[in-house]
Amino acid sequence: MAARQGVLPLLPFDLDGVVAELRRTTFPGIEGDVACRFSAEIEVVAQITTEPWPGCRGDIEVNTALNVPGTPIEVIRAIVKHELLHLVAPPELVRRWGRWYREIHPQAFLMRQFETAPEFQTACEWLKRNFGRQLKTDRDGSLVIHGRRVRKGGRRRVAKAPDPD
Ligand SMILES: [Zn+2]
Repeated sequence: MAARQGVLPLLPFDLDGVVAELRRTTFPGIEGDVACRFSAEIEVVAQITTEPWPGCRGDIEVNTALNVPGTPIEVIRAIVKHELLHLVAPPELVRRWGRWYREIHPQAFLMRQFETAPEFQTACEWLKRNFGRQLKTDRDGSLVIHGRRVRKGGRRRVAKAPDPD
């Protein structure tokens, strides 16, 4: 397990266990495998990459900054919920200032998050308390932990989702 995850998990609970629990309780409609691991190669708090068709595999990466024994399971649960929501409320193309723009957190996403993850706000407050000025919101509305050493060749968030056409 540790080998597959790449980064040795230090949490007293299992990331895949959190995914399994949330799929059972909140997202029974999600098909396909969803893996979850810590990554030292991202600046965002977490991200999900997936292929643009239903039933395929999703990969959630959680920033290694959260790989400390004191990270509450409630915070991880809220973060994983947010990432799973990306599978049920995909990005939308919106036109703004004369340009098409991929909205990663469109209104439909935020509404679903409000309904299914009311604890998300509390989790954000915990992140702000713990990361202070390192925590920023990027232009997509994603939380980024600045000042983290991202491994050379590390990836920025790449959202792969269907193009609504
Ligand atoms: Zn997101």
